[in-house]
Amino acid sequence: MMLRLEKKTILILELKEKTQGVFKMPLDNIGHVSKLRGKLDKFEAIGNNTKKNKFCYDRYIEAKKKNELAGKIVDICGVCYSHESMNGYMKNLPLSLDKNEILAEKLLSDLEIKQFFFLQSFFRFNHHGELLTELVDDNGVTIKTFPKYNMIENYCRIAEYNPHCTFALWTKRTDIIKRYFDKREKPKNLIIVFSNTKVDKVISKIPKHFDKVFNNVNGDNFKEIQNCTGQKCKDCLRCYKHSDKLDDNIIVEKTK
Ligand code: SF4
Repeated sequence: MMLRLEKKTILILELKEKTQGVFKMPLDNIGHVSKLRGKLDKFEAIGNNTKKNKFCYDRYIEAKKKNELAGKIVDICGVCYSHESMNGYMKNLPLSLDKNEILAEKLLSDLEIKQFFFLQSFFRFNHHGELLTELVDDNGVTIKTFPKYNMIENYCRIAEYNPHCTFALWTKRTDIIKRYFDKREKPKNLIIVFSNTKVDKVISKIPKHFDKVFNNVNGDNFKEIQNCTGQKCKDCLRCYKHSDKLDDNIIVEKTK
């Protein structure tokens, strides 16, 4: 009887050992992981509330003015899908995304990072919102400031904890990416996509520490190099794979 009990205990201990880091630790849930549909069908993602993110708030206002003045879309942030969907049919989404403020608030402990284990091969960072450094109220007034590099460091740690998965981060924040990766090694499974705000101005030079550039064009402009338009990411994966070919790294999509 004694022997049987000991064997069982050892088995449980072995199992615990093996599954450490594979299954989430029994902590309170940290953050919010979104399950995506449409173009990003089958993807999971971590994002934040665009309406409260100062960078996004300011860009939206500025870009809307530019578009109005030009009488057409010249700045993609002025027709921000995220902002407009949160004002419209996705009214409850901001509440869930607010939970990810924790990624800007502090550097997560090793135990907390274990909450972010993904059984996926590809994962999206910032499907909504930019790298978060400041929160604003409904009038755009700053109500909270976070350490500038917390979110990017937490994303790096999450990527390092999931070496089986490739993470793609879309950002316009060269001020963070350049400074940060001048000093920190970038995880090999983190792809950083520079999000070009200027519509119909295709950038084909990749900024330092970025891996790809995402460009938007109106209608049939640059049709011969549109390599994203009309596709689903799961069928394409161009943004989620490292490549030496320029064509794989300069992405061009028609504005919706
Ligand atoms: S190029 Fe491919 S992977 Fe990248 S956004 Fe377009 S469809 Fe998705």
